[in-house]
Amino acid sequence: MATPIPNCRICGTPALEPILSLGDMPPVNSFLNGPADFAKETKAPLAIAFCATCSHVQLTHQLDPKDVFTDYIYFSAMSETIVRWGHQLAARYASEISLKSTQLVAELASNDGCILKPFRSHCRVLGVEPAKNIAEVANKDGVPTVAEFFNHAMGQKLREEHGPAELIMARNVLAHVPDLVDFVKGVRHWLSDDGIFHVEAPYLKPMVDHLEFDTIYHEHLSYFSVTALERLFKEAGMVLWDVEEIPLHGGSLIARGKRQGPAKPSVAQYLAMEKAEGYTANGKLHAFAEGTRKLKTALPEFLTELKKKGTVAAYGAAAKGVVLTNYCQIGTDLISWVADRSPYKQGKLTPGMHIPVVGAEKVLEEKPTHLVVLAWNFFDEIVKQQDAYRQAGGKFVVPVPFPQVR
Ligand SMILES: [Zn+2]
Repeated sequence: MATPIPNCRICGTPALEPILSLGDMPPVNSFLNGPADFAKETKAPLAIAFCATCSHVQLTHQLDPKDVFTDYIYFSAMSETIVRWGHQLAARYASEISLKSTQLVAELASNDGCILKPFRSHCRVLGVEPAKNIAEVANKDGVPTVAEFFNHAMGQKLREEHGPAELIMARNVLAHVPDLVDFVKGVRHWLSDDGIFHVEAPYLKPMVDHLEFDTIYHEHLSYFSVTALERLFKEAGMVLWDVEEIPLHGGSLIARGKRQGPAKPSVAQYLAMEKAEGYTANGKLHAFAEGTRKLKTALPEFLTELKKKGTVAAYGAAAKGVVLTNYCQIGTDLISWVADRSPYKQGKLTPGMHIPVVGAEKVLEEKPTHLVVLAWNFFDEIVKQQDAYRQAGGKFVVPVPFPQVR
């Protein structure tokens, strides 16, 4: 189910340097129906390592991707933040590259198509989504979507069938890709001569700075710096053309590639900053690992104190919540339940720690004194949704980089 990774995913160097182990962890989407499923539950090592040659930070073990994606239960339209982001991207590119109705915009791992949807008023769209059940939802909803894993061969096939793409988006998917160079080669093949490859990926820098160890999970094989991304694009015959940071998911990069340069000044600026501030060396990563190990005891202690004075529940049965509760060994003794808006998770138990998942309405029904926001990357959105809870005296807890009441 999990295989060790012998070589760097970008440059192929063997003997990666171990940085942090989070122990044996269940796959973050393997929610259980009840105690009858406990015996079937599987766990696999979750740890990151550093490549001294290209500075890429990556997992030491990999799950079979087919186990992970075939029945993936995350539907993006459930987040208002993501729907809004789709509209912003469509407006941005409609003006930046003057999209025409004959031109093609594609998204890799397009989920339910909610990012591509607003592009439809400007151009042709095509989604590529490996999860068959989700591709079906997108197609029914009017976003043409092929249910396939993307790679170099698929890039060639899609170009033949649909023509070159002016824009290919890969939002939070590159980190999931086992064969990175082959994947980016497929993008290069499918892009038009002046086409843009738009990558969004969680950025290594805020992960390290803010101790966001809970963004590490089996499906995230890579933790990108700009330095590593630049090398990846080069290996695939592309140029890293532009870089910017966005606040999504605790701090993400938009890295944009083209088939040829020249690159914008942002690329050289980020490369110089990462080198000067130590994000391309191992020292900073070892400090991150040390901070994470401290939180492993600090967070349960913090919750134990809160529990003495009241009741504690959680919000957001997201992947990061599964990692955090398993690593810190937080179970129903500290958190009674976790509320989540996804009907696919409600009524189930979280992987590993078996915390019951309930509907969001439970927050107001039970009014726990403290609500731990496990999906802290959507903190503002959750606080807004749960304003009545706060008005009623409820308090939110943010677990990282150190536990605090907000
Ligand atoms: Zn490397």
